[in-house]
Amino acid sequence: MIFDTHCHGYWHGLKHRQTEMLDNMRAMGVVRSVHIGTDIDKSLEALSLARAWGSDTWYAAGFHPTGCQNLPPLSAAEHIRELEKLAQNSRDKIVGIGETGLDYFHLTRGHKETQKQTQREFFRHQAELSLRLDLPLIVHTRDAAADTISILKESGIRRAVIHCYSENPKFARELLNFSDEIYFSFSGMLTYQKSTAVQDTARELRLDRILVETDAPFLVPQAVRNVYKINEPAFTRHVMDFLKTLRSEPGDVVEQTVWKNSHRFLRIAE
Ligand SMILES: [Zn+2]
Repeated sequence: MIFDTHCHGYWHGLKHRQTEMLDNMRAMGVVRSVHIGTDIDKSLEALSLARAWGSDTWYAAGFHPTGCQNLPPLSAAEHIRELEKLAQNSRDKIVGIGETGLDYFHLTRGHKETQKQTQREFFRHQAELSLRLDLPLIVHTRDAAADTISILKESGIRRAVIHCYSENPKFARELLNFSDEIYFSFSGMLTYQKSTAVQDTARELRLDRILVETDAPFLVPQAVRNVYKINEPAFTRHVMDFLKTLRSEPGDVVEQTVWKNSHRFLRIAE
């Protein structure tokens, strides 16, 4: 059984295909999913999807690094207060804070330094909130490895996931030296030919640190990339199947262990 630990099933392109998405998941053995917010409105959409889908579905609330520079003009602290209120009012469904983190790839020329600063501020605030609410932190990082590590260390975060892993093995090693409650989640990116460093990481990591996800509707796995333009939770199956080809353990051990990891990380009963 497979757990898609990071997707956005409420996103346009997916939200009008709810029944089909669930049918496809069932057919592929993708039983459970977490839908991730990227700002307050999207977090609310993720929450209502989690409520509509019922007992095998959860959500996370947060501000995505590339969105936080375009928010209405409130202070970061005020935005975070809104986020905290939402989290407190949905304790039955919320399993994480995020996605937050740093994205130094998508910056606007002429505004790069202020945008980086805003991202760091929102990241620190959300790390603090995750500790306060005792919820894991869902981290997006792109071209920002050093700053991501230093903010995670400074904040004293222990339980976090690096989602859609796109770094090399050294980055994972460095984080594991700091906390053994850090997980690494592999998406369709793992399956692309150019992703050799990501594949090396998936080979090298302890199996009990690994999660899988789709990040749907983005990053369609290689196996179905020629057929589909929009990713969906069912395709976690393709990420899992690819992961099995990289690991030395038997396939069913990989699948069962990753399933257990997902529940341990999110503190959900199996
Ligand atoms: Zn995402």
